[in-house]
Amino acid sequence: MKFGLKHVAWLAAAGAAIAIFPSLVQGDEPVPVFDGHVHYNEAATIAYSPAQIIAKMRAAGVPRALVSSTSDDNTLALLKEGGTAQVVPFLRPYGGQIHSGNWFRHPDALPYLKDRWDPDRYAGIGEFHLHQLSYADSDTVRTVARMMAESDRFLHVHADSRVIEAILAHTPDVRILWAHAGLVDPPEVIARTLAAHDSVWAEISIRGFEIAAGKTINTAWRDLFMAYPDRFMTASDTYVTERWDSYAEVIDHHRGWLAQLPSDVGRAIAYGNAVRLFGSGGIAALEE
Ligand SMILES: [Zn+2]
Repeated sequence: MKFGLKHVAWLAAAGAAIAIFPSLVQGDEPVPVFDGHVHYNEAATIAYSPAQIIAKMRAAGVPRALVSSTSDDNTLALLKEGGTAQVVPFLRPYGGQIHSGNWFRHPDALPYLKDRWDPDRYAGIGEFHLHQLSYADSDTVRTVARMMAESDRFLHVHADSRVIEAILAHTPDVRILWAHAGLVDPPEVIARTLAAHDSVWAEISIRGFEIAAGKTINTAWRDLFMAYPDRFMTASDTYVTERWDSYAEVIDHHRGWLAQLPSDVGRAIAYGNAVRLFGSGGIAALEE
């Protein structure tokens, strides 16, 4: 399915933005990747220290990453180790009795989030899960969406396109980073969602083997990236410790299909779009 080139003007702008980082686009160095979906969950803290996790990211050519964790203290431990150049922290509601299946209706979740929320520290709230359409309409989700809209920060949402639509129906001015681009939503549904909402960006963690099952990029995904080059970012999703064990391979698989896109588009998805949304941090530092 073709989507057409809708963002030709943006491609020119992206070229200008990427020119800020000339050292990243020359030579044999691997393209830096902003990882848009990292967790440092409880089990991973037993296997790897914060210093080891930061070292893994840097060894994989990931100078900056969006991090949320169960519990949030683990994100703050990584932030302390890697600093704001490496870590873009998101506040996750999970921990103790609060988890992906109940956070939106657990009486302690909203007080916890309000108590911990600091727009000077966190770039958003998430990653959180909403597995049913009706969950998007809870008081907790409405309040969290309003908080992010008012502080110009993001929701990082694991849900299908119908749930994304439902959140934007009650809070149209909130910005959403769509986890796994819906996980099960096919390219044509992702395209429809992005076309309808300028305030939605998508990261493609866990979709790597649909995007490129072998080594060659899938045509429908390629068309999607070409139609919306400014709306995607690369991501791993280290939801289990095994993902940290094979972290460099996960990132390198993404580099393989990114290299099959036009250079400007591949670099926008690798790091350029994330720089526009979250700042350059450790990506700019590579210039030095
Ligand atoms: Zn997820």
